[in-house]
Amino acid sequence: MIELKNVSFKYKNTLALDDISLNIKDGESVALIGENGSGKSTLLKLINGIVSPVSGEYIVDNEVITEKRLSDSKFSKKFHKKIGFVFQNSVTQLFCATVFEEIAFGPIQLGMSEEEVEERVNDCLEMLNIDKLRDREPYNLSGGEKKKVAIASVLALNPEVIAFDEPFNEIDPKSKRFLRDLILKLNENGKTIICATHDFEYIEGIFNRAIVFSSENKIIRDGNYEEVISDRDFLRENNII
Ligand code: ADP
Ligand code: MG
Repeated sequence: MIELKNVSFKYKNTLALDDISLNIKDGESVALIGENGSGKSTLLKLINGIVSPVSGEYIVDNEVITEKRLSDSKFSKKFHKKIGFVFQNSVTQLFCATVFEEIAFGPIQLGMSEEEVEERVNDCLEMLNIDKLRDREPYNLSGGEKKKVAIASVLALNPEVIAFDEPFNEIDPKSKRFLRDLILKLNENGKTIICATHDFEYIEGIFNRAIVFSSENKIIRDGNYEEVISDRDFLRENNII
């Protein structure tokens, strides 16, 4: 479904992804692991169409994704409905006056009727257990609450793929456990999960695959999550633990 063929990406002179090839199938749950600066966030941005390859190809459902393709608003809508992105910093994702409006924004953009929007928002509030935040200002919420609202606003589009950038950062242990269970549930319900993380304490049992990046921004390992994570020497050599 998601395919990268020899993809490289640079920010001006900084190489962020070096010759990345990978294939992610429908329904997988993938952890992206690697020390700071190894390219995890950049890969997620590329998968979400925020940056485009300098060389190589990014392909979704057999279609090459380019800046030009994404500038077509009809295609862009379809693409963003399929792939959702929960940013590392929730503040960059939240811009509405109330939690309700925040979650309703995507469905309204998709042209849903008022009743459908209401129903979709209520479902998401319930799924994230944030009904009581409905009329609050997103800006004033706690870190964990902001994260939940950001996730709800992404789930409101009912994407097939959900990319998370370090979602376990800066939230309290209770929210971490909640998020772990939520990701598990989403994956069990058929969602494809791609998640950058370095917080291994709370994420047991969520992922079936780990893709590991080196400090040179290359993939150095791609395999079963439990196997990778139990290879302590490997993780230590690569500054992951
Ligand atoms: P990670 O998420 O694994 O920490 P990133 O994808 O953020 O890694 O970064 C990969 C490389 O790209 C790093 O060298 C980083 O400094 C650089 N980089 C990331 N974002 C930018 C940016 N907006 N401008 C310039 N360089 C960047
Ligand atoms: Mg990052």
